[in-house]
Amino acid sequence: MIIPLTVDSLAIEMKGLSTRSVHDGDLSMRFEGAINTPIFQSSTFAFPTEDPRSWEGEVPEGTYIYSRYSNPTVHAVENKLASLEGGESALAFSSGMGAISTTLLAFLKKGDKMVAMEDLYGGTYALLKNELPRMGIDVEFVPTTSAEKLCQAIDGRTKLVYLESPTNPLLKLIDVRETCSMAKEKGCKVLIDNTFATPIFQRPIPMGVDVVLHSATKYLNGHSDVIAGLAVGSKEDMALVHQKRKLLGAVLDPLPAYLMGRGMRTLELRMRRHDSNARKVAEFLESHPQVEKCIYPGLPSHPDHALAKRQMDGFGGMVTFEMKGGRKAAENALKRFQIIAKAASLGGVESLASMPVNTSHVLFGKEARKKLGIGDGMIRLSVGIEDPEDLCEDLEQAMRQI
Ligand SMILES: *Cc1c(COP(=O)(O)O)cnc(C)c1O
Repeated sequence: MIIPLTVDSLAIEMKGLSTRSVHDGDLSMRFEGAINTPIFQSSTFAFPTEDPRSWEGEVPEGTYIYSRYSNPTVHAVENKLASLEGGESALAFSSGMGAISTTLLAFLKKGDKMVAMEDLYGGTYALLKNELPRMGIDVEFVPTTSAEKLCQAIDGRTKLVYLESPTNPLLKLIDVRETCSMAKEKGCKVLIDNTFATPIFQRPIPMGVDVVLHSATKYLNGHSDVIAGLAVGSKEDMALVHQKRKLLGAVLDPLPAYLMGRGMRTLELRMRRHDSNARKVAEFLESHPQVEKCIYPGLPSHPDHALAKRQMDGFGGMVTFEMKGGRKAAENALKRFQIIAKAASLGGVESLASMPVNTSHVLFGKEARKKLGIGDGMIRLSVGIEDPEDLCEDLEQAMRQI
């Protein structure tokens, strides 16, 4: 017997983020006193009544039929994120791209338009640039992080505005509150990819955002062992997205959902450490003679530092820096890192480094990269939770050799 899960709304406003990370959503103590949510590795569930037709198409909350529709282990992780983001409802997907594409298709139809920042995650950019227009959905990219300029692109056909903040790899910020109030005035929904900040450092729903999207592959799961995505929003919006998830099928499986729930229990703890490590690494890099420029929202030299302090509760674990000596120097440094791994992706407990010129922005071409401000000697660092002294020493020894 599955006892229906209800998020404890009574205490929700009072609980801290670490308590929510550990407890909320979990189905603990509901099955033989288990402290952890069991892995319901089952594609299907026995009908709880003799006559499924009596539901008239609406399956009651907490009743499970088939795991493409919903599954208790997956539901537990969805409720954990909904609590952390302060949203009514969440849905889990088999990847971040699954969450983004399914959500966009739930809100947009042929003839509609959406407005997006130009500085987007590569996969999202390609989806918006190449796939949505094939379905008759127009996308206007605006090369700005000014809320006003972005919202000027909204016209009568525009249904939604799409944001990322901080951006990859330049870590620019957009004023989320200001964007929401301008977009709402024009009747548009606002969606944001909150992967880099996580709800520990940025909670866009109370700022007015309709749907928050995540590549849970990154910080939420946090251990570089799962591909997953999440979307959070109102019950009404998520009901639409749920319909689309059922049909498009990019749903998360119970086993990775269990791993994600396990990872998310330490989210607050990990994020604080990512943040304090990144501050130290950023300060070290900014004062290093072989570093041309260091970009980190926590540095007073960052153009959006004041906005970051206002809008976020921490600056996060991503640091981007430009080597003096360009591409060759950066490639040489990268080769010599001993603790920091050379890899794509981010947000795991281990530090990872990559060069946008060779990875995320390889297809942009030299001119477009220059326009965006992505230098050939740029290194993007996902600062892990190792001892900060060891990370600085790893950077130092690599630079000594070039
Ligand atoms: C990785 C990433 C995605 C895509 O997520 P997947 O889980 O790889 O599908 C989307 N947005 C951002 C900001 C990302 O870093």
